[in-house]
Amino acid sequence: MAKAVPAVSAKKSKGGGAASTAGARSAPFPTPASLRGKLAKLGLVTDFDLVLHLPLRYEDETRVTPIAEVRHGAPALVEGEILSSDVAYRPRRQLVLKVRDDSGLLFVRFLNFYPSHARSLAVGARVRLFGEVRPGFFGGEMVHPRFRVLRGSEPLADALTPVYPTTAGLPQAVLRQMVNEALDRADLSETLPEEVRDRMRLVPFADAVRALHRPAADADADALEGRTHSAWRRMKFDELLGQQLSMRLHYRARRRDRAPALAPAATLTARLLDGLPFRLTRAQVRVWNEIQHDLAEAHPMNRLLQGDVGSGKTVVAALAALRAVENGWQAAVMAPTEILAEQHHRKFAEWLEPLGVRVAWLAGGAGARERRQSLVAVAAGEVQVVVGTHALFQAKVEFARLALAIVDEQHRFGVRQRLALREKADRRRRTADASGYAPHQLMMSATPIPRTLSMSYYADLDVSVIDELPPGRTPVVTKLIADTRRDEVIRRIRDACREGGQAYWVCPLIEESEALELQTAIDTHARLAGELQGLAVGLVHGRLAPADKARVMDDFKAGRVQVLVATTVIEVGVDVPNASLMVIEHAERFGLAQLHQLRGRVGRGTAESACILLYQNPLSEGARARLRIIFEHVDGFRIAHEDLLLRGPGEYLGARQSGAPLLRFADLTLDADLLEAARTLAESMLDRHPDEAALHVRRWMSGRAELLRA
Ligand code: ADP
Ligand code: MG
Repeated sequence: MAKAVPAVSAKKSKGGGAASTAGARSAPFPTPASLRGKLAKLGLVTDFDLVLHLPLRYEDETRVTPIAEVRHGAPALVEGEILSSDVAYRPRRQLVLKVRDDSGLLFVRFLNFYPSHARSLAVGARVRLFGEVRPGFFGGEMVHPRFRVLRGSEPLADALTPVYPTTAGLPQAVLRQMVNEALDRADLSETLPEEVRDRMRLVPFADAVRALHRPAADADADALEGRTHSAWRRMKFDELLGQQLSMRLHYRARRRDRAPALAPAATLTARLLDGLPFRLTRAQVRVWNEIQHDLAEAHPMNRLLQGDVGSGKTVVAALAALRAVENGWQAAVMAPTEILAEQHHRKFAEWLEPLGVRVAWLAGGAGARERRQSLVAVAAGEVQVVVGTHALFQAKVEFARLALAIVDEQHRFGVRQRLALREKADRRRRTADASGYAPHQLMMSATPIPRTLSMSYYADLDVSVIDELPPGRTPVVTKLIADTRRDEVIRRIRDACREGGQAYWVCPLIEESEALELQTAIDTHARLAGELQGLAVGLVHGRLAPADKARVMDDFKAGRVQVLVATTVIEVGVDVPNASLMVIEHAERFGLAQLHQLRGRVGRGTAESACILLYQNPLSEGARARLRIIFEHVDGFRIAHEDLLLRGPGEYLGARQSGAPLLRFADLTLDADLLEAARTLAESMLDRHPDEAALHVRRWMSGRAELLRA
């Protein structure tokens, strides 16, 4: 069917050159240059991209509906004879037809038309029209239907007509044609072992693809559109399998590298454990054992250590670092912020220096001279443990014998940063240093990742979870208070501080403007200092010079500052057990993970702790939902799960900043069973059907693998 708007003839699409722009990827389809940009915008470069460009919905042009039976608002195909065809000029220029079939009369209007259209749509002609019928002035009318003037008896479509996601200037007809051609050209061979297909009741891949692009006239369009059709199930499974295979391949590749095998010497580690004022929790012991086990092997560990805020990840990291040191190697510890790096430096120095271990600090804010000295000492192997921000990895830091890299709060590193880091690690791996060794890696995260998500996106890592908090913590009481009751909150802070407590006051997040956020923090500090006369009120924010930041944090830790006004720089990892009160202003602006992290800053000591969420009315629906969740739940995993349901995995993982969706077809919240199966299959497929596995990965992951691993 032609459309009554200027349409690109589908034939033209065959003419273009087939310039290869995709290197090793499968060959791009032939495209006229004028379309290539538009197609690329949709991510369509290769035949297989087109095969995987699945319809949004379908239109049924396989049967004709009598005009009298057409439901208003629903699209339908009608056929009839043109009774009249006139160009009207009011209210604007338009072509108006009256079309009749045996059952009734229909008005048709075209607002854009060419003289040729008007000529072909002449009185007496038989036409087929597809469009939505709406109630009009004279009865039912169709505006801008697709139409076809019939010459003799023409067969109806034998398949539902797919409607694809597209972009301006790329008509459906062209896209349809291109997909059709791609379907004929592309290799749709089967990758799943038959036994697996049978067991999981999955339809063959080629059948699934055809069912989606060219569904039979009697296909269940609702199931197709609702993505519950068996063809969809197959696509989702294949997508998940592609992801799992690619991650497991990556995992296996890394395991082929050599790393220093760190024997469980237990000299320094045992002494650290003896000297601690507490005993490890059962969960800490378990994860430490998992880590020790990995470190003792001669290939690099790649482990993600997850544990809720305050679960005690730092001491586990310190043990791992010491394991390297007691074997005569170095360890590096990296944190996303200066404050956190500084804090780690202190903690590590406090714990390790009494054992005769030298700990250096290499954050961006260190003085040039100090920095140079540290670098020399690290390169000479005189310093065994280095702590820093990611500057540590960006700068040319040379280690004499690096055995272990620890990345704290890894979720705080953006997707791109994480990619860069991983690439760097990979490069280092390929060009392995003089020793030929790649370091073990321990990543830590306090953002609990729901199981399905971590199974999916961290499938190339081993995951350890600390699922227990150290004993003796008093649960934090969470309060939701409207900001009209700010006075009460001020009184409460004064009382708490009089009794020896300390408080955080977190200033509102202002996403649009960092400058405004800073100014707000400065204003809030001034105002609180006035309202809380007699108390020492400090201020810390991201723009403070590192030395000043360190001084304020020091004063707060030592109790010289009682109320700390802060921007979200304190979100991660800050540990001041005496602080028992936290106020978060404009809590409605924060994300759930952030609120949970912030709240985790209190309740670290034995004192009764509270987190006051000040909010401003009116609340949006989303804000209300977030505040309810944070009020009702304290368990980070539960909160993460709710967050995932609220936002979906893309946003949850920060994929938006990377500009690419992570999974297109599968939905981790709905398709958990498929994910589980894909994960199991991936391992056995790599061993037993390596060729099919390779084809499958190529099919699904070309050009996307990097993003998926980010
Ligand atoms: P996070 O996992 O959030 O990084 P930290 O490592 O900062 O948590 O630990 C939080 C606090 O709990 C610290 O003060 C730490 O010394 C303390 N801690 C860690 N492990 C234990 C334990 N087993 N028993 C008691 N306190 C502990
Ligand atoms: Mg921490």
